[in-house]
Amino acid sequence: MNKLIGQYPDATGHFGPYGGRFVGETLVSALLDVEAAWSSAKADPAFMADFRAMLRDYAGRPTPLDLAERLSDTLGGARLWLKREDCTHTGAHKINNVVGQGLLARRMGKRRVIAETGAGQHGVATATIAARFGFDCKVFMGAEDVRRQAPNVRRMELLGAQVIPVTSGTATLKDAMNEALRYWSGTSADTFYVIGTVSGPHPYPEMVRDFQRVIGDEARAQMLEKTGKLPDLLVACVGGGSNAMGLFYPFLDDPCEMLGAEAAGDGLDTPRHAASIIGGSPGELHGALTYLLQSDEGQIHEAWSISAGLDYPGVGPEHALLHDLKRVRYEGVTDREALDAFQALCRHEGIIPALESAHALAAAMREAKKRQKDQNILVNLSGRGDKDLDHVLAWLKEHPGQNSEVRSQESE
Ligand SMILES: *Cc1c(COP(=O)(O)O)cnc(C)c1O
Repeated sequence: MNKLIGQYPDATGHFGPYGGRFVGETLVSALLDVEAAWSSAKADPAFMADFRAMLRDYAGRPTPLDLAERLSDTLGGARLWLKREDCTHTGAHKINNVVGQGLLARRMGKRRVIAETGAGQHGVATATIAARFGFDCKVFMGAEDVRRQAPNVRRMELLGAQVIPVTSGTATLKDAMNEALRYWSGTSADTFYVIGTVSGPHPYPEMVRDFQRVIGDEARAQMLEKTGKLPDLLVACVGGGSNAMGLFYPFLDDPCEMLGAEAAGDGLDTPRHAASIIGGSPGELHGALTYLLQSDEGQIHEAWSISAGLDYPGVGPEHALLHDLKRVRYEGVTDREALDAFQALCRHEGIIPALESAHALAAAMREAKKRQKDQNILVNLSGRGDKDLDHVLAWLKEHPGQNSEVRSQESE
C-alpha cells in the first residue's frame, strides 16, 4: 500500500481530484495569507508548544481512552474502546480546531474573527475562543437555524459574539457559509475566518485536519499502551468530517480498517438524509470539489438528520479521496439506529453521547456483533449529549417502544 500520510493535499491543495480553491480573486489572496501563516506556524516550535499547552490547560487534553466493557459484553463480540472527546471543555472535539485557528489568527495580528454555523455548535466554539483571546466575533447563521436553535444563539451572545441571521437561499448552513465567505472577501485585512470542519477551500481541509489529528495521535498511543497492539477497526461519524479525519489520519498507513458513519436520517431511499458520500455525487461547494447532495442540475439539496451536527450537504475533500481509494468504508446510520445506540450507551456505560457520536457508536455496535472478542474497535465519541436531551426525549415520545437495542438486551 502506498503511504498516505504526508501525501495529500498536493501543493495546489488537491486530494487527488478533490479539494482545490474555487473562489474569486479577492478571496484567493486572503487564502494565500492563511496558507503562508499556517506553514510558518506549524514549523515554529513555539507556536506548536502554545497549541499543546492550550489544549492541555484550556481544552482539558489528553482525553481518556475508555473501554466500554459492559456494552461490549452485551453485544458479545469485539471490544469497544471510546475516545472520550465528550470530556473536553465545551463538550466536543470542535474545541481542538478553534484553539488552533484562534492562535493562528493572533499570530497573524487579526483582531476580528468570523464563523459560519448551522446548529450553532461551531459558532459557540468560535465565540468561546474569541472571548478567550479578546477578539471581536461575528457568527453567520441561517435565519431558519437562528429560529430553531435559540439556546445556542443565546450562548454565543453570552460569550460576547454577534449572531448575523442569513436570509438568502434556504436560510440554513450552506447559505451561512456562502455569506461568511462573501463578507470575508471584503474584510480579510483585519479578519480571520474560522471554518468549522475539514471543508472549504485550501488550506482549510488540511489545516483543520492537522489541528484535529491530536485525537488520533493520542488514541494511537493509548491503544498501544492499553492493549499492546493497534485497533482492528476505527469508527467515527462524518458530518463535514473533522472528528473522523482527526481520528483516522495518524492511522492511515497502519493495517487498521476504518469506517465512517454518515447520517442516513429516515433512510437512504428517502430524501431525508445527510449522507453526502454514499448518497451524493461529486460537485463544487464552498470553494472545493467534493461529494455533495445535489440534483442532476447541480442544485444543492437540503441535508437532513436528527443530529444537527451531521446536517451538512457536503463533506471534506479528503474523505472523498479516501472513499475513492477504498481506504475508508462509509456506511449510513439511520436516526432510529442512532437513537438505539444513544440509549444503549446511557444504560450500559453511564455516558450520554452527542447524537452525532451515537451514529459512530451504532456503526461500531453493528461491527462488534460480527467480530470475535479478541478484536478491538476504537470509536470516536466526538461529543456529549446534554445539548440533545430535549430532542431525544421528543423523538422517543413520538416513537414509543422502538428502543430495540436496549429492549433486546434487557430481555436476555
Ligand atoms: C459538529 C459535530 C460533529 C460533526 O462534525 P465533523 O466535522 O464531521 O466532525 C460530530 N460530533 C459532534 C459532537 C459535533 O459537535
